[in-house]
Amino acid sequence: MRDENCLFCKIIAGEIPSTKVFENEDVLAFRDINPQAPVHIVVVPKEHVACADEIDASNSALVAKCFEAIAAIAKQEGLSSGYRVINNCGADGGQSVMHLHFHLVGGRKLGETIV
Ligand code: AMP
Ligand code: ZN
Repeated sequence: MRDENCLFCKIIAGEIPSTKVFENEDVLAFRDINPQAPVHIVVVPKEHVACADEIDASNSALVAKCFEAIAAIAKQEGLSSGYRVINNCGADGGQSVMHLHFHLVGGRKLGETIV
């Protein structure tokens, strides 16, 4: 459920402060500390899953919960002309925090490349 050494688990537990934008039973979303766009929000399941590579039939509902939250947050943030959702997985994917999360990025016209 929780990894004692995980930064995002500590944020979820309120042990490290964050700027929360959305919270329900399953999902927490907070502003990225190093934003890459006018809106840059980190969306995490409250249950600790290290990365996308660990998603299987037992926990994939967490991903659905994250995307339900993303749609709600996008409306809350006024991203009516679009946005991007990014997941970095593992070392080559550039993942720096090993707790599954989705970056919700928008508020300006984003570049067309994905890498
Ligand atoms: P990733 O590189 O995909 O693992 O993304 C981790 C993200 O977490 C980065 O965009 C960081 O800027 C962000 N981040 C790290 N520490 C914090 C924090 N304390 N509060 C908010 N965002 C953070
Ligand atoms: Zn965690």
